[in-house]
Amino acid sequence: MTTLILATRNAHKAREIQAILANPRLALRQLTLKNFPAAPAVVEDAATFSGNATKKAVELARWLSQFQISNLQLEAGAAAFVLADDSGLEVDALQGAPGVHSARFAALDTGETGNSSDAANNAKLLRLLQNVPVEKRTARFRCVLALTPLIVADRESASPVCAADAFELRTELFEGACEGRIEAAPRGTGGFGYDPLFIPSGHEQSFAELGEATKNLLSHRARALSRLRERLMAIGRASQA
Ligand code: IMP
Repeated sequence: MTTLILATRNAHKAREIQAILANPRLALRQLTLKNFPAAPAVVEDAATFSGNATKKAVELARWLSQFQISNLQLEAGAAAFVLADDSGLEVDALQGAPGVHSARFAALDTGETGNSSDAANNAKLLRLLQNVPVEKRTARFRCVLALTPLIVADRESASPVCAADAFELRTELFEGACEGRIEAAPRGTGGFGYDPLFIPSGHEQSFAELGEATKNLLSHRARALSRLRERLMAIGRASQA
């Protein structure tokens, strides 16, 4: 049984990841940060989705490996990983904004710290696009997943610096994107974030109207998770060989 600890406090993201990874062929025990309320918060200050995903996964893996290994109750020889998701919306007419700032897009103008509400982010996006014609409102969601193995510190041989490097060196990245366009007004009540404004290519309804099951077949997160699923299956097969 492989243990996966999701490095997110976003309940919507966690639910999507858990639903998409639920598969009888994957023997997975999935935990989230709810199981580790004392986990340190990570400052997401990298310039790319890959940088932020790696930072979130590596910092949590380092903390868990140092302080929580016995609480995880791992079976002998069983693999355990941290999985972090960094994702966001890129709008072509805004030169790729909000991008890595998707969660705190509105707060960039006010100087407030922390994330903005979905309503404030969506209102800002609509304001910036109000004079942009429909054919120029192209956009995509991007998701980068970082998978970092837990490493039990070997006090005899590893210095803290070497151990820290090992987490980053062993991190694997999985990417997914979903193309679409930005609607003129919010539509639908499902999902989270920019879902009510995003119409995926080939559809006429927003992610918030299409519902979770359909979104989980075509989203940026679903595409990145399908690559991750192949990797986890290979890890499972290798551990049984
Ligand atoms: P993160 O937690 O730093 O990765 O922030 C991701 C932000 O991007 C979220 O707060 C949302 O605003 C936006 N976002 C990412 N994925 C989605 C999605 O699937 N639907 C809608 N918005 C998303």
